[in-house]
Amino acid sequence: MKKMHLRTSLSLFVALVVAFTVFLIGILSSTLISRQFEAYVRQTQKEQADDLAAGIGSHYDASEGGWNIDYVHGMGMYALKDGFIIRLYDRDRKLLWDAENHDMALFHEVMDSITRRMQEKRPELDGDFVTYSYDLKTGDERNGVLEISYYTPFYMNENEFQFIQVLNRILSLAGGVSLIAAVALGIMISRRITMPISGVVYATRKISEGDYGVRVDTDLKEREICELAEAINHMAASLEEQEHLRRQLTSDIAHELRTPVTNISSYMELMIDDVMEPTPERLKSCYEELSRLSGLITDLERLENAESAGYDLNREDVDLYSLAGTILQGFETKLHEKRIDAKLIGEETHIFADQRRIGQVIANLLSNALNYTDENGRITVTVKKDQETAVLAVEDTGIGISQEEISRVFERFYRTDKSRTRKTGGAGIGLSISKAIVQAHGGTITCESEPGTGSRFVVALPVTS
Ligand code: ADP
Repeated sequence: MKKMHLRTSLSLFVALVVAFTVFLIGILSSTLISRQFEAYVRQTQKEQADDLAAGIGSHYDASEGGWNIDYVHGMGMYALKDGFIIRLYDRDRKLLWDAENHDMALFHEVMDSITRRMQEKRPELDGDFVTYSYDLKTGDERNGVLEISYYTPFYMNENEFQFIQVLNRILSLAGGVSLIAAVALGIMISRRITMPISGVVYATRKISEGDYGVRVDTDLKEREICELAEAINHMAASLEEQEHLRRQLTSDIAHELRTPVTNISSYMELMIDDVMEPTPERLKSCYEELSRLSGLITDLERLENAESAGYDLNREDVDLYSLAGTILQGFETKLHEKRIDAKLIGEETHIFADQRRIGQVIANLLSNALNYTDENGRITVTVKKDQETAVLAVEDTGIGISQEEISRVFERFYRTDKSRTRKTGGAGIGLSISKAIVQAHGGTITCESEPGTGSRFVVALPVTS
């Protein structure tokens, strides 16, 4: 099915709603005004008839011999033109004056034109001329009877019909104008909403094509759309960052693999070509390079494992102090060999954490302290609770790290210049693994160090509440 543009459907929706409202208001106001006007006309007609009767009635003069027929004639002809047909009888029911007899032509013309007009324009009224009878009295004495016939329930003249017509026309015009204005407004509003959405669609399409540099304009008035744009930008930025890290990691791995592989292959080549004897020392050297390679692969696996730790932590209640003690014990032989004095100080401190992974962090820090501390050095592990934080510090009296390098030691494959010259040490992944694990637990890992004096690595983790 062909999909409609959001802009078109929004504009259509607004136009439809407004059209309906305008139509409803138009119909309602037109009906109400017409009704009110008709009620007014009806009332006026009745009052006119009453006034006519009162007017004629007040002209009865007993001393002058009764009715002034000339006056009745004037009034009657005047009223006829207005649609009122009068007939005056004296008190003995003798006909004194009759509009029909006086001007039959005019009488028929008035009656026909009113009936024709009303039946043509308001047939549903089903009206007709109805005669109303008035007793004309002076005090209690009856002077005669006046019959007034007029079109009932009411009738309107040409001007009055025109008034209604003009009113309806004005209402339709106002409706039309507001409809056009509403459609224009609808188009404007929908454009305002859809334009940034089109921007978001464009950006997400670009992102899905791998162009993570694209950004959406967030300088928008509508909060939800602004939030959407910000979320898209955030997503693009983190994808860009991940892409960057992925590339970095690939090049780092390639770089790290190159040295041992080149070494092994050049040894092998020389041995195959009989240029070099495969002596046990040379084979041992190859074996060491291969061990380095295998260690590197293990490290990479551990790193991958640690970085996905955030999604898969096996948390339990862990006493950091006793965990540090157990791990430290594992290093006993190595520490003894290097005659390094290691001690654990502090107090029982509970955290809600993945014991195996936190143990990995402590082991990494201890192993580094051991590797980068010369014989007869000292390693101090401290565990304590600082308000809501469990703090584990591993301090050594080793070679230390320069200020410029401190911030970089947590990067993957980063090794300080000093450590590169040493036989000990790994591929520079241990601290990246530790950092990933600590962060997955909502904690931080920092380092303070002084070259030649020693280093202090501090892990801060939230305590169990
Ligand atoms: P590695 O496996 O090389 O030890 P890490 O990621 O654990 O890798 O450490 C990165 C680098 O940080 C090390 O190569 C070393 O240069 C430096 N480093 C780590 N711990 C210490 C320490 N206790 N004393 C001095 N340098 C250290």
